Amino acid sequence: MRIPCPHCGERDVSEFRYGSDASKARPEHGAKGMKTWHDYVFVFDNPKGPHVEFWQHTLGCRQWFRLRRDTSTNEILGGVE
Ligand SMILES: [Zn+2]
Repeated sequence: MRIPCPHCGERDVSEFRYGSDASKARPEHGAKGMKTWHDYVFVFDNPKGPHVEFWQHTLGCRQWFRLRRDTSTNEILGGVE
């Protein structure tokens, strides 16, 4: 699989590390309730199809970015930012 880094261009997936689901909204600062934070940090969906994810170019520029990928085919649908 080839991933387009927004800073370095297209590179092999071995240069990257998956971060997490980028579609989740972070709770408000000071949000109360352990369940709110527990669910944000530890509970994830396992979507099949188009999905927005955080990736880091660990063996390149080390920048984090969002990537839209089809999880069933690994097709890169585009970088988000
Ligand atoms: Zn890069």
